Amino acid sequence: MKYLLKNADVVNPAGESGRLDILVDEGRVAHMAAQIACADAQEIDLEGTNLMPGLIDMHSHLREPGYEYKETIATGTRAAAAGGFTAVAAMPNTYPVCDSEAVVAQILEKARAEGVVKVYPIAAITKGQKGEELAEMGLLRAAGAVAFSDDGQPVEDPRMMRLGLQYAKNFDALLISHCEDKRLVGNGVMNEGIMSAKLGLAGISRAGEEAMVSRELILAETLHTRVHIAHVSTRLSVELIRQAKKRGVRVSAETCPHYFAATEELVEGYDANTRVNPPLRTEDDRQAILEGLHDGTLDVIATDHAPHHRDEKLVEYSLAASGIAGFETAFGLSYTHCVLGGALGLEELVQRMSVAPARVLGVEGGVLAAGKPADITVADCRQEYTVDVASFYSKGRNNPFDGWRLTGKIRMTMVDGKIVYRDGAVVI
Ligand SMILES: [Zn+2]
Repeated sequence: MKYLLKNADVVNPAGESGRLDILVDEGRVAHMAAQIACADAQEIDLEGTNLMPGLIDMHSHLREPGYEYKETIATGTRAAAAGGFTAVAAMPNTYPVCDSEAVVAQILEKARAEGVVKVYPIAAITKGQKGEELAEMGLLRAAGAVAFSDDGQPVEDPRMMRLGLQYAKNFDALLISHCEDKRLVGNGVMNEGIMSAKLGLAGISRAGEEAMVSRELILAETLHTRVHIAHVSTRLSVELIRQAKKRGVRVSAETCPHYFAATEELVEGYDANTRVNPPLRTEDDRQAILEGLHDGTLDVIATDHAPHHRDEKLVEYSLAASGIAGFETAFGLSYTHCVLGGALGLEELVQRMSVAPARVLGVEGGVLAAGKPADITVADCRQEYTVDVASFYSKGRNNPFDGWRLTGKIRMTMVDGKIVYRDGAVVI
């Protein structure tokens, strides 16, 4: 299928931007120019919209294999397409854990057969994510793993993390750290502070995250290796990463929409959908996250899409599973709170959601140019709408932003030149 995408305002930080027509042929961008005529292409008028290189989510949980009652590769990638993502990286805390070539191959095969967007498996740092023995990183990488993480769990033993970083350095592989010192987190279920005291819920000390961020920065600095910090949520974490970058440490970092769109105040009312790890923090932290995105300390916005079955959330707060099903609200929350909020321009938002994740993961994408894959996201950044979790493609309806008014709606998602989502519906 040959498409001629006309009249969109192209936001393409790593290439040509502005009012451009784009000709898509055989899965690739064939031509970009102010005016293109092509008789045998299907013309799509995108007047009034913004067209971007496909959004890439470097932190998601697709739950397959093993937890298909929460999400599958089929449903998860449809939710991703609805959220404007053309590619997602899947964390390895599945069952079995993605710590073998067989599981990597299984995920890639499923994604090819049943997925509608690109799926990049992330493999475990340690076997079974148990923190005791390194996984076979070289083999896993050769099988198609794009990065390594024990996400869901920290690598508690600093010696093990050091070994992992050292080993990964041999082939410049990326380790993604879920920063959480369990001993400081204890049995906490929300941010520790006045709000947790008021609600009578056990608090999670911010030091649990920050101490681990410090550890990873020191390890990366002394070993001269890369490290990526997942889901940054506090002011001090941002500041530690900022200072490390100034010293030349090879660190990259991400935050998630819920950390700049919401605070612990949202927990009032005990909605279990607000339970997430790390927890929603304070207004001061929220401001620091926006500052970190603004000055580039935080390279990436990732969703940490973590779907759960409703029964895992329909319990009292302290028993509820942690996580937010975030694919389908990520762009709207980011546009509304970062761009309309003034922290980022649209071009910088595309940087955080497409260009930077492609660069950090070392995968294709993040740029539109002749010859590149036609992975394209189109959004109407003037359109206001109300979040309705009942309309989600994800099996997970655990999202605390249900009923929120947002601006910035995904209109179309194209993967390798195929339209997979258009005007409210997955079309594949
Ligand atoms: Zn995590």
